[in-house]
Amino acid sequence: MLREIKVLKSHGSQYVKDLRTQSVSELFRGLPVISENITHEEIVKAAGLCPVMAIDERKGSVDLGKCIFCRECAFALPDKIRFTNDYRLAVVRREDLIINPGACSPLRIDKAHVRKEIRRMFRGALKLRQISAAGDNSSETELAASGNVNFDIGRYGVEFVASPRHADGIVITGPISENMSEPLQICYDAIPEPKIIILAGSDAISGGIFEGTPALNRSFLKKYHIDLYVPGNPVHPLTFINGVLDLMGIK
Ligand code: SF4
Repeated sequence: MLREIKVLKSHGSQYVKDLRTQSVSELFRGLPVISENITHEEIVKAAGLCPVMAIDERKGSVDLGKCIFCRECAFALPDKIRFTNDYRLAVVRREDLIINPGACSPLRIDKAHVRKEIRRMFRGALKLRQISAAGDNSSETELAASGNVNFDIGRYGVEFVASPRHADGIVITGPISENMSEPLQICYDAIPEPKIIILAGSDAISGGIFEGTPALNRSFLKKYHIDLYVPGNPVHPLTFINGVLDLMGIK
């Protein structure tokens, strides 16, 4: 028995004590910073390397809704583009995911644009149904990890549930293929109002590397208000957790 206790003690804390301030490795690719001195030639060079056309050739901005965080642009221009390890990337407006040269403020949710009923109804608990709409199982795995013993988003009353009828909202991963467009609609219809929609990962937000292909049918996204955009490829559990907590208005 004493031996087991010693082993447990040697393992230390197995969970993230503070999900809001937990630091991550310097190697993590989070919020990019683009030098305000980047030249047009350098922007064109970086845009030419970007596999998902996330870099605006005119402005030099990076669209985090498209970016797959491959860091090719930063490798090519290390003095002009770098990725910080700031994982708090979730926003409520799509346009907030555009990072312009010279921008240095952190990405935070603008509460003025959060639907009032979300904070009124779900501050204490939120049940979500995850739907993989042709996802590659990467963001899906990270979302599952957000509920494991390490991250334990359940401590805030947030849980994934098996049935959309028990859910307050859906978390969509994957680029939404034609084949998944109808199941996605059926899932959404089964959820009671006010029906929160969260897009998790670059595939869900923009189509990712599949953007523009005929195999996708993203018409669902044009019909409804999106409550939260969570960038990443895949999404880090802390990015998802902090985005959801911000949406709920939890400090
Ligand atoms: S890190 Fe993002 S913006 Fe840079 S090349 Fe890769 S996908 Fe494009």
